[in-house]
Formats: sequence, C-alpha cells, structure tokens
Amino acid sequence: MTHWKKLTNPDYLGAYALEKGQRLTLTIKYIQEETVVGPDGKKENCPVCHFAEKDVKPMILNATNMKAITALLGTPYIEEWANRQITVAAEKVKAFGEIVEALRVQKTVDKGEKILCEKCGKPILPTTKMTAAEVAKYTKSNTGTEMCLDCAREYAAQKKKQQEETAQKTNQEVKESTEDENN
Ligand SMILES: [Zn+2]
Repeated sequence: MTHWKKLTNPDYLGAYALEKGQRLTLTIKYIQEETVVGPDGKKENCPVCHFAEKDVKPMILNATNMKAITALLGTPYIEEWANRQITVAAEKVKAFGEIVEALRVQKTVDKGEKILCEKCGKPILPTTKMTAAEVAKYTKSNTGTEMCLDCAREYAAQKKKQQEETAQKTNQEVKESTEDENN
C-alpha cells in the first residue's frame, strides 16, 4: 500500500512534476522493491520504477498503477516491463475522502512524436524538462544535427578534445617556426 502523500515525495516522480494536462511518455529501465521513507518518517517497502530517460526521477508504483501497467503491456512480470514505454498523466483521484492529484499510468502509450537521432538512429528521448522535439531542436542548434542527449554529450567531448589538439598543434608550430628563425 502506498499512501497518496508519498506521491508528493520530491525524491520521486509525482503529479507535482507535470503541468496541467501534460502526458509524459517514459521508458521503463527496471523495477525493484525499495525502502521508501515517507514525509512522516515511516519506512515502507514499495515497488519503484526507474526510467531510462535522463533527469526523470523514479516513480513509486501503487497497486492501481501496477495493474494498469500489467494491462497495458500484457504481462504481470516486471522483468518483461524493461525497455517498454508507458505514458503517465496527473489525474484527480479520491483518497481518504479528499480529491488529490496522482500519477496514473494511461491506457495507451503516446506514440506521437518519435524523432530519431541522426547519429545513432535511436529515438530521441524526452526529459522532464524537454520534449523529444525540444531535445532535437536544442541539439540541432548546438551541433547542426538532431541527436539524442547521449550523442550530444559525446559530440561535445570530441569537440573539446579536437580543440585541445588544435591548440597543441598551433603551439608546436609556433615553437618550430621560432626555432627556424633562430637557426
Ligand atoms: Zn544518438
């Protein structure tokens, strides 16, 4: 059992992380049981879903969402949920006589915008701050190519290395030409 108040725990993805009406499509990396400390300091073991997308906090799965994922992915085995996608949205739910917003796994997965990385060919994944389209736009403006964040990081690292090598080479040439002048 997961008390709804846990869903506001800032260590985990919750309804608070989404704009009104926003749907977030995420790729499941793995699910494991973890000890979760609630706002009241009480410890409880809960299934926690970790996502492949960068900058996305793990999500505590309650029974409702576990059932929703089982129905959506067609299997109750969490090992078979890895690398599959789910779409979550904030929904108003009744809990302990109050209406609160909670994350709910949706019945369908948003397939809408699948933008492929021009470098590695894998789909560009969204982050909580940027949609896939925004990641594509961002990397294109910085590198001239629409690429995933992994490739963008690699590109940045390579560029830095190249610049360092060029700087070294220039230093070397300057040194050599000075030596020539001295001869
Ligand atoms: Zn890539």
